Order: sequence, then structure tokens, then C-alpha cells
Amino acid sequence: MKIGIIGGTGFYHLFNDMKEQNVHTEFGNVTLFQTTYEEKEVFFLPRHGKHHDTLAPFVNYRANMLALKELGIERVLAFSAVGAINPEIHEGSLSLLDQFFDFTTRIKTYGKYSVDITEPFCPELQDTYIKAAESIQEPLREGTKLMCVDGPRYETKAEVELFAKWGMDVVGMTNATEASLARELGICYAVVTLATNMAPGVTEKKPSLKAHKEVSQSKSEVVKELMLEAITHAHDRKSCSCRDAYERAVVAK
Ligand SMILES: [Zn+2]
Repeated sequence: MKIGIIGGTGFYHLFNDMKEQNVHTEFGNVTLFQTTYEEKEVFFLPRHGKHHDTLAPFVNYRANMLALKELGIERVLAFSAVGAINPEIHEGSLSLLDQFFDFTTRIKTYGKYSVDITEPFCPELQDTYIKAAESIQEPLREGTKLMCVDGPRYETKAEVELFAKWGMDVVGMTNATEASLARELGICYAVVTLATNMAPGVTEKKPSLKAHKEVSQSKSEVVKELMLEAITHAHDRKSCSCRDAYERAVVAK
């Protein structure tokens, strides 16, 4: 079985030996790292590039997701840092995304057909993450709603106030785009987020790269355990409908 992992730089330490691999897609080249864990073929895709120097608005999302598809990967476990809008979500806590509102203006489609995205994340992979969190006894907040923004700037107080009124729990810059493209490609996709700061206006403390790094660092071992456990629990697709639209539109052609 093949599993894709999308995350930030901290993930290089997930495994000791990872083999670099370059995939050429019609949207550009993508660098991934491959290894084997628990008899599963694991492909780590550093979302912001090999050197973590591509900011969220400039990530080549279409190339990234297509590279995974071209490697024959059907299931992708993603991880992201977010800002917490809901005051019940504390810095350093993990949340499982369940819905999103896409506020971005970037290109987020392959433009071939419309897909059903009523439930944007794979229920089977969500379950995989829940089981993984249970087995390492780490609290994981379920039912979390993401507001996805372009970035790279943080949000204004007025934006966060509005997002809170709309019932959004966290704000991030990448996952709605990845989820939409994954669905178009028939790839199962789910995300756990780490709140590395409270969103502007929720707290007086200003968001900063320094604070983000400190929180990420303090949780790096937990995140590593969670991801390894999730890979262990992951299984081939059973009954989810993530691939249905793709099959109807592309495979049936
Ligand atoms: Zn699925």
C-alpha cells in the first residue's frame, strides 16, 4: 500500500532513511521523499518545497497533488499549522478538520469537471487519525472548521471577528486547496492541524514566526508519533466515496 504524507519541514525526521525522488508533472516538478514503514510505501511531500522556502500563496498545489496521483497514491494524510479562532482551541493542541470555507483567490482546480465536496475530507482517513490519536493518548478535537486564506500575511482583527461569527474554528492557508484538488483526482485526503498561535483579536499576543516555531518544536515528538501511528492504522479504501466523481468523469471516459 502507498501512503502520501504532506507536511512541513519537521517531517524530515519522521524516518531515518528517505530517498529523494523527483516527479515531473504538466504543472511543474515536485520533490518527494520515499521510504518504507510497516510494509507500506510512504511518500513524504514537503508542502513548502525541499528547503521550506515557498510561502503558501506560491506553493504549486496542482503539481504537488498531481505528483502524488502519478505515483499511484490513493490516500494522503496531511498535517498543517493553523491559527486558532475558537478560544476553546489552545496553542499546541491538535484538531481534525471536518469542513472548510475557502476564502482564497488562487487557482484550485484542474478545470476538467465539477466534484461533490459536501464532505471535503475522507471519513476513513479521519477515522485513521482518530484511532492514531487515541493510541498515543493525545487529545484530538473533532468536527473542526477551517477558514482557508491566501496569506502569507496574517489576518486582521475584523477578518477574525467575521470568521468567528461564521462558526470557523481555525484559520490556515493551504488545506482547502489541497482538499479540492485531491477530490478532483479521486485521492482520499484528511488533515490534522496544530494550533501554533491564537488568531489576531482572539488574543493580544501577535502571531509571529518565532512563536510558530516554538510551538511546533514543543510538539514535534507528539506529531511524529501521531503520524507514524496513523500510517500504521491506515488501510486501503473500503467504502468512502472520495473516488466516485473521478471515476465517473475520468475513468469512465
Ligand atoms: Zn476516501
